[in-house]
Amino acid sequence: CGIIGVLGTHEVAPLLVESLKRLEYRGYDSAGIATINEGRLDRRRAVGKLVNLSDLLVHNPLAGKSGIGHTRWATHGAATETNAHPHRSGPVAVVHNGIIENFRELRAELAEAGIHPETETDTETVALLTRLHMDRGLPPREAAVATLKQLEGAFALLWLFEGEGDLMIAARKGSPLAIGHGDGEMFVGSDAIALAPMTCEITYLEEGDFAFVTRAGVEIFDEAGRRANRDRQVIDAGA
Ligand code: GLU
Repeated sequence: CGIIGVLGTHEVAPLLVESLKRLEYRGYDSAGIATINEGRLDRRRAVGKLVNLSDLLVHNPLAGKSGIGHTRWATHGAATETNAHPHRSGPVAVVHNGIIENFRELRAELAEAGIHPETETDTETVALLTRLHMDRGLPPREAAVATLKQLEGAFALLWLFEGEGDLMIAARKGSPLAIGHGDGEMFVGSDAIALAPMTCEITYLEEGDFAFVTRAGVEIFDEAGRRANRDRQVIDAGA
């Protein structure tokens, strides 16, 4: 339901939770974040209000300067911690808004490769497919793009990869996603309000776009995989 991603210069867990709070108005049933700390991917998730996630983080903190977060409004699978985002498979973490319509078919393909889901969600298939592509030799960018081509539905996606503390991959198909530009930092959010505390310079992805985000900037591609130029806008910092 709400997506946030930060490639930052400071600890990101508090920033992620603060941004998720700004997305609370959209409604949600669970929340979670994943970070990369010294190359290692880890996550925390909690059912219910964001305060439950904050409490968990007090007792069981998550360090790192790169991270993604999500507030979930369950469409496939009950509102449980297991079904909460970020979803993970091996080196891949992913958060997702919307619905992967063909997830049952994709699950069947995964089953043929001996891969079985651990959750009831449509989202987990994205993590499992991306991991499968990586296991077969594709680097993260190519693995995410190959996965994207297999997906049907209306969604926004954001990937983070173990060992890749300077990379997020964002994709928009039917569900909005904005890239925020900082000074040596970059952000991704499901709306500008999530990004408002961190930056007022925003680039909205267009329908079908995907983007490779690093601290140095963003490369945006259209649905056909061609480099795309998208305008940078300055939004009202109080938004
Ligand atoms: N379909 C996904 C799920 O049920 C994402 C729902 C959302 O947009 O929060 O987990």
